[in-house]
Amino acid sequence: MPLLEVRGVDAYYGDSHILFDLALDVAEGEVVCLLGRNGAGKTTTLKSIIGLVPPRAGCITLRGRDLAGLPPFRVARLGIGYVPEERRIFGNLTIRENLEVARRTWGNGAGQPWTADRVFELFPHLATLRDRPAGRLSGGEQQMLTIARTLMGSPSVLLLDEPSEGLAPLVVEMLAAQLARLKGTGLTMLVAEQNVHFVSELGDRVYVLEKGTVRYQGTMPEFVANEDVRRAHLAV
Ligand code: ATP
Repeated sequence: MPLLEVRGVDAYYGDSHILFDLALDVAEGEVVCLLGRNGAGKTTTLKSIIGLVPPRAGCITLRGRDLAGLPPFRVARLGIGYVPEERRIFGNLTIRENLEVARRTWGNGAGQPWTADRVFELFPHLATLRDRPAGRLSGGEQQMLTIARTLMGSPSVLLLDEPSEGLAPLVVEMLAAQLARLKGTGLTMLVAEQNVHFVSELGDRVYVLEKGTVRYQGTMPEFVANEDVRRAHLAV
């Protein structure tokens, strides 16, 4: 059974039909990438899973349990961590304080709970800055902290919305290396991205969205080798 499964999802903003019969799945320990141009529906897919844009049709399950109709805080408690595109951190709190206020253990079977010390072990750069107010961090450091903060909720699956957005190329490389370390802990991830290069080493499988529907799915090596698909559905 997949850890996370989306089947036949239709989602709307008001009368605008955005997702059409969308289906994807993510197995335990897998990193799955959701690719597509601007407006393809990547963010809406993540928001449907977390319950911010509840689907009008279809089902979304975590370990076989239906999430449809649950509010976002209940979905989070069941083990889905969501890192939105805009970085939500408390600028006047230090890194350590940002982590401590986000600490939650729900007893949802997500494995070893995260603590600030465990985060610092995995991301030593954040450890060196632990007493610095978050408002004084660089964009890349803030993105790392946003991800680390979500880890403090000890999720079974991490949903990341365009983590490389707005970061300088060198910082993007560093972030990729850090996410690879996170993958090494066995954490399951669903990553929405436009930057194919950023996820090409990290991802196991790919779904390409266009106009709210899946146009291609395959393994990352198959996708990277398939220039036609990349040209047809992405701006690369
Ligand atoms: P981006 O990289 O621009 O975030 P995306 O693939 O994540 O792209 P979505 O943000 O999911 O795409 O947008 C899918 C479609 O939904 C777009 O046509 C967009 O204009 C529309 N849309 C997004 N948010 C809203 C909203 N709040 N109200 C109405 N339409 C919206």
